Amino acid sequence: MPTLSIELHKDLRPFNTFGLSAYTARYLQVADEAALQEWWQTQGTPPEGLLVLGGGSNVLLTRDFPGLTLHMAIRGQEVIAEDDRTVLWQLGAGECWHDSVLSAVDSGWGGIENLALIPGTVGAAPMQNIGAYGVELKDVFHSLQAFHLPTGHIHTFDKEACRFGYRTSVFKHEVKGQYIITRVTLRLHKAPHVLHTGYGAVAEELALRVPAGQSPGITDVAQAVMAIRRSKLPDPAELGNAGSFFKNPLVPAAQHSKLRTHYPEIPGWPQPDGQVKVPAAWLIEQTGWKGKRLGHAGAHARQPLVLVNYGGATGQEMLALAQAIRQSVRHTFDIDLEPEVNVV
Ligand SMILES: Cc1cc2nc3c(=O)[nH]c(=O)nc-3n(C[C@H](O)[C@H](O)[C@H](O)COP(=O)(O)OP(=O)(O)OC[C@H]3O[C@@H](n4cnc5c(N)ncnc54)[C@H](O)[C@@H]3O)c2cc1C
Repeated sequence: MPTLSIELHKDLRPFNTFGLSAYTARYLQVADEAALQEWWQTQGTPPEGLLVLGGGSNVLLTRDFPGLTLHMAIRGQEVIAEDDRTVLWQLGAGECWHDSVLSAVDSGWGGIENLALIPGTVGAAPMQNIGAYGVELKDVFHSLQAFHLPTGHIHTFDKEACRFGYRTSVFKHEVKGQYIITRVTLRLHKAPHVLHTGYGAVAEELALRVPAGQSPGITDVAQAVMAIRRSKLPDPAELGNAGSFFKNPLVPAAQHSKLRTHYPEIPGWPQPDGQVKVPAAWLIEQTGWKGKRLGHAGAHARQPLVLVNYGGATGQEMLALAQAIRQSVRHTFDIDLEPEVNVV
């Protein structure tokens, strides 16, 4: 007896943080691996395609989707091993990332406190190796389980197999579209913790919060990060957005030096591979887009790397804004901005 409850012609507006309306022809909420197996055995991927959705905080829906949307809702938090210093903590793909950070901090487990308040689900975190304030998922990642669409088997990926990089992983390249991540295991640390407070804003915020002479703990770091993010980034519940729209581009050192002769104040962070990472927000600001609107879409006035839906924007309008910004930056600096957000 089929138990799957597939909904037809469903608006995905509540499920993406841009708040964009886009209808999916079919929609299935996936509560566990058994539901995935049943769907795969009885129906499988339709010719019109598959859209896997977590919290919808890193997608731009530009059109109605003619295929099937699988909305990941696999729950569960379990310590699967521990020793004196660490715990291996396995989480269902549908768990809320930020709530999981708070649970870890409450349990006294360190490692992900700098990643507090990043929206979305645990299952999407490895996709782009989420990162903030000097920490990336890969720093605490142990392994993940993923459903292999061509065979219907669950495969395990260790850190090396995930090929994590700056806002990327194997799931965005070599095996794109082949896997649905079902569970993620993190290796978190018991006290004494190693804190990552080198990031300027975090150090400043901690100095305000922790009395002189006292050492901060993981709770202080999480709270400092939350305070910084609340002051800097628009809340998607109030102003639709998907965080940073573009990645910070990497340019050859020679190109960066050349740009410096025209723009002496251009920032740049030298990378171990000899390239220089340039803040996309600075490039966008220089081209005059900061705080500017195109129809109902705009580049945020405080953080121009965040593109926002001022209300009533369509996905096509958001895309047109992103393309116009990309073209301005290419024209001015000969640098091509790569979207961090997944355009559907
Ligand atoms: C205000 C704001 C701030 C943000 N700040 C940061 C930040 O500091 N650092 C950062 O790295 N990101 C940041 N983001 C981006 C976003 O929160 C992360 O990329 C997050 O991991 C996306 O999770 P999600 O569940 O919403 O993914 P979704 O948007 O639902 O999906 C993202 C991609 O992953 C795929 N996917 C989702 N779940 C699965 C799964 N289980 N299996 C296979 N594929 C899957 C989707 O198909 C899509 O391609 C921010 C976003 C917002 C709105």
